[in-house]
Amino acid sequence: MGSITLETGAGTEFIDITDRVEEAVREAGVQEGLAHIFTRHTTAAVFVNENEAGLLEDYGELMERLVPRGAGYKHDRIDDNAHAHLRAVLLGPGKLVPVSGSRLQLGRWQRVFFAEFDGPRRRECMVQVISL
Ligand code: ZN
Repeated sequence: MGSITLETGAGTEFIDITDRVEEAVREAGVQEGLAHIFTRHTTAAVFVNENEAGLLEDYGELMERLVPRGAGYKHDRIDDNAHAHLRAVLLGPGKLVPVSGSRLQLGRWQRVFFAEFDGPRRRECMVQVISL
């Protein structure tokens, strides 16, 4: 099992972790299988999509539209970060990516992202490679 540690720098941030996931997959020594990229945080998520400057802003604006901060959430009575939990719920804590030849089988424009919704924080993301 590999592990990626991240220091996020903003409240909402999308960090491309593809190269570090690839490294963990190589270290696992699995030729054919699945990489499970999973974060054990309740205000962060993992997703796969394109790393393009405009899209990085669009992801953030989408989340702001869907789950605006401070919109009367009950959790804000105790923690003031309900928006971060709810945004994480939309994306989920993990993704499975096929592995072949010890490489992630991503599409040409696909990258693996760690989504921070309650930063800045120190975060961890697990990479477990399952041999098939
Ligand atoms: Zn909370």
